[in-house]
Amino acid sequence: MQSNGKIRIAIQKSGRLSEESISLLGQMGLRFETYQDRLFAPCRNMPIDVLFLRDDDIPEYVRDGVADLGIVGSNVLDERMVRVERLLPLDFGFCSLCLAVPERGGYESLGDLDGKRIATSYPETLRRFLLERRVDSEIVVLGGCVEIAPALKIADAICDLVSTGSALRTHGLTILETVARCQAVLFGRQDPPEESRRLIQRLLLRAQAVQEARKYRYVMFNAPADAVDSMKNLLPGCKSPTIVPLADPGFIAVHAMVIEETFWEVVEKLRDCGASDILVAPVEKFMR
Ligand code: ATP
Ligand code: ZN
Repeated sequence: MQSNGKIRIAIQKSGRLSEESISLLGQMGLRFETYQDRLFAPCRNMPIDVLFLRDDDIPEYVRDGVADLGIVGSNVLDERMVRVERLLPLDFGFCSLCLAVPERGGYESLGDLDGKRIATSYPETLRRFLLERRVDSEIVVLGGCVEIAPALKIADAICDLVSTGSALRTHGLTILETVARCQAVLFGRQDPPEESRRLIQRLLLRAQAVQEARKYRYVMFNAPADAVDSMKNLLPGCKSPTIVPLADPGFIAVHAMVIEETFWEVVEKLRDCGASDILVAPVEKFMR
């Protein structure tokens, strides 16, 4: 539907994914204004329009070519099963689709839900899961506020998104089983028009560079020259650390990428090996 090389990116208008989606597009170099109640924003510096929509509408819009790229939770894509191309998991919007039951309701395993009613806004995902596990339950479809269903006696259990579990506890529910782990995903239409492909590919590379950068910290420190070998093994984050000689020949400066997840352990071990004056900086973009 879109032509002349201009593309549209659809993100959630207001909800859990909005802030991080806008921030990601900003880090990818897109410059646009976000005003409340705005549904559409042209980028100042690229031939791109950003659409702000309800997340439920985004997969179909992308499939139909109303938008070329979209960001929604993987739970929405799993449920709708529309023909789109998943391009990149985005490492935000983490949650799980879980089966939950009343605490002290006597439910111990999935099999206990056989013949029971389960309320959910994710009927297709749940149907597939139950089929795979050979459990025969009745699915009660609700648009939202699913946690209240057992108290209202419209269902015995629920299948809903959980992040911290506090909403479940408030309603006297406890997790019985995880159906799917979810996060935000960047996705695109299956056959984008020829003239949009290059821009879509550029944006995907930028998104990957932002993603990749988030996994690392840039670490600089001084160390005794003879500690290099033991330190090298602690720094597997990239091909090889940069080693710079200092005025004092007994010392060197080391620059290296350290994986964020293991960052504290690595820095502590570097200190044990003699590292000092340790400076840590975030990595904004990282292209291999
Ligand atoms: P919309 O108005 O766009 O339809 P919504 O109410 O469907 O919004 P949100 O509640 O903002 O959507 O959730 C958007 C996405 O955030 C979910 O689809 C899911 O992928 C993710 N998410 C992360 N944590 C949670 C959570 N605790 N509960 C619900 N969704 C969560
Ligand atoms: Zn929604």
